[in-house]
Amino acid sequence: MTDPRINDEGWIGVDLDGTLAYYDGFKGDDVVGEPIEPMVRQVRKWLADGRDVRIFTARSPHPAIRKFCKDNLGKILPITNLKDHNMQALYDDRAVGIKRNEGIPFDDDNVEQVFGEEDDEENEDD
Ligand SMILES: [Mg+2]
Repeated sequence: MTDPRINDEGWIGVDLDGTLAYYDGFKGDDVVGEPIEPMVRQVRKWLADGRDVRIFTARSPHPAIRKFCKDNLGKILPITNLKDHNMQALYDDRAVGIKRNEGIPFDDDNVEQVFGEEDDEENEDD
């Protein structure tokens, strides 16, 4: 998972629910899902490389998120819901990657994952 936009400055935003932690519906501020290993491995690698990684979430910064970080990432990461000019990349299960200055997505599969498959008449048999 190499991202050419990432360099040694700035920070990487990583969503919690559905990206770092398994999510199948909100169950309370104190409940964080099981770690999702590929993303957890990637974040651990970034941290080992000295990158500034932050949890980017709409949740309030509940202690359960800090515990998740400590248990799974080896350290407590900053928690934010704010984007700024130093955010280099955002990893998020709801994000749709858009080609810069073109306004079109990189990948239709990503749009489908976020919005669900488009209904067509062939699938409407009930
Ligand atoms: Mg999410």
